[in-house]
Amino acid sequence: MAQKYEVRQMQQTQQVKPNPFENALEQLRIAAEYLKLDDGIHQMLAHPKRQLTVSLPVKMDNGQTHVYTGYRVQYNDARGPFKGGIRYHPGVTLDEVKALSAWMTWKTSVANIPYGGAKGGIICDPKHMSMGENERLTRRYAAAIAPIIGPYQDIPAPDVYTNAQTMAWILDTYNTLEGFMSPAVITGKPISLGGSLGRDKATGRGAVYTTVEAAKANKIDLKKATFAVQGFGNAGSNYAEIMQTYGPKLMGASDSKGSIMSKGGMDANKLIAFKEKTGSVVGFPGSQAISDKELLQMDVDILCPAALENAILPDTAKGVKAKIIAECANGPTTPEADKVLHANKVFVIPDILANSGGVIVSYLEWVQNLERNYWTEDEVNSMLEKKIVSAFRDVHAASLKHDVDMRTGAMIVGVGRVADAVKILGVFP
Ligand code: NAD
Repeated sequence: MAQKYEVRQMQQTQQVKPNPFENALEQLRIAAEYLKLDDGIHQMLAHPKRQLTVSLPVKMDNGQTHVYTGYRVQYNDARGPFKGGIRYHPGVTLDEVKALSAWMTWKTSVANIPYGGAKGGIICDPKHMSMGENERLTRRYAAAIAPIIGPYQDIPAPDVYTNAQTMAWILDTYNTLEGFMSPAVITGKPISLGGSLGRDKATGRGAVYTTVEAAKANKIDLKKATFAVQGFGNAGSNYAEIMQTYGPKLMGASDSKGSIMSKGGMDANKLIAFKEKTGSVVGFPGSQAISDKELLQMDVDILCPAALENAILPDTAKGVKAKIIAECANGPTTPEADKVLHANKVFVIPDILANSGGVIVSYLEWVQNLERNYWTEDEVNSMLEKKIVSAFRDVHAASLKHDVDMRTGAMIVGVGRVADAVKILGVFP
């Protein structure tokens, strides 16, 4: 009996996921210590400015009405309007949205773009909804959050299971309520509605620019280097395609169907075409199947986790041979695994820096909308490079100054800039 109870307890413990907002607060606490933040400022940064919960009745295709729950959390806008994506997922919780909105605040600050941080989400399962149901849910949500968004207040964008079409529906709903066309209220739009050239590849491209800087800092010759990508989707495949133009050879890749490696290396463009045709990287000619753990522990110079959170656990981290990890995914490394990687001198480019190319080009999209002046893809890419390389150098300098890893360095830079703005604004009234 006792044994059964223990097994059940163990299963329950394993199922309990860490509260993401508590993780975010712990990261803030560490940065606050390095920055010697005043307790009042620390408290202000530990609380979202506004949290909106909305109930969304939607007419389903079968004629019944289903009520969904949605959120928009506006964390901090001391440095500029709130900015952050909208996620559709059955696992969305208010604490998750709060954590993501805090991370957006530090991310826009590290990138040094004049935005604050926000995030939105709806508890729903878009994989089991028709296009019509998805559109009605999106429009109802847009109407429900319309009073608190706007081109100078809060500018949403896509996130997990939302895309350019979702943004177009939100834009149309907002415009209908306002009575005029206001493209700058949202980013990640289709090009025909004022979206930016280069936005689709911006996350992978930005992560490449940070990897190039990391290679210089670690004296790695990219012409002779090798790399592997976990999660060959939007961010991961663009990373691979652009990375190989700098010289490194792609040795391994994976997606949700499995992992592969090739001793002689693979051409990323051919792998992208193969995945488009077959739906997976598995079975690519000349490659052999390996396990996900083997992929993460491949003998390569650069590893790019671009799939989901918690991909690198302490046990996997112990066997990581890469010298650089470029976190395209959000939260791919657990805090415990991070300690192992740091002890083994693996240079981790943290997510809030490595994948900030997406929000940087979102910012460039917003500027183009406000100016009614559109740039070429080359112009967008060169502005992205300038901004993200400068962010990398700020974070690297902070990590050397405080003798900490790049993740702590990024938090020191991100939190520090927001804290300065909050302090000088003062407290109302
Ligand atoms: P995506 O859906 O296009 O790609 C994800 C890929 O990961 C898919 O190929 C999927 O098959 C694969 N995958 C899923 N589970 C896997 C597993 N267990 N092992 C290996 N592969 C697995 O999504 P995306 O837009 O490329 O986003 C990927 C990550 O990058 C996410 O963490 C996202 O939050 C982050 N990110 C993306 C952007 C962006 O602009 N796309 C911006 C910032 C951060």
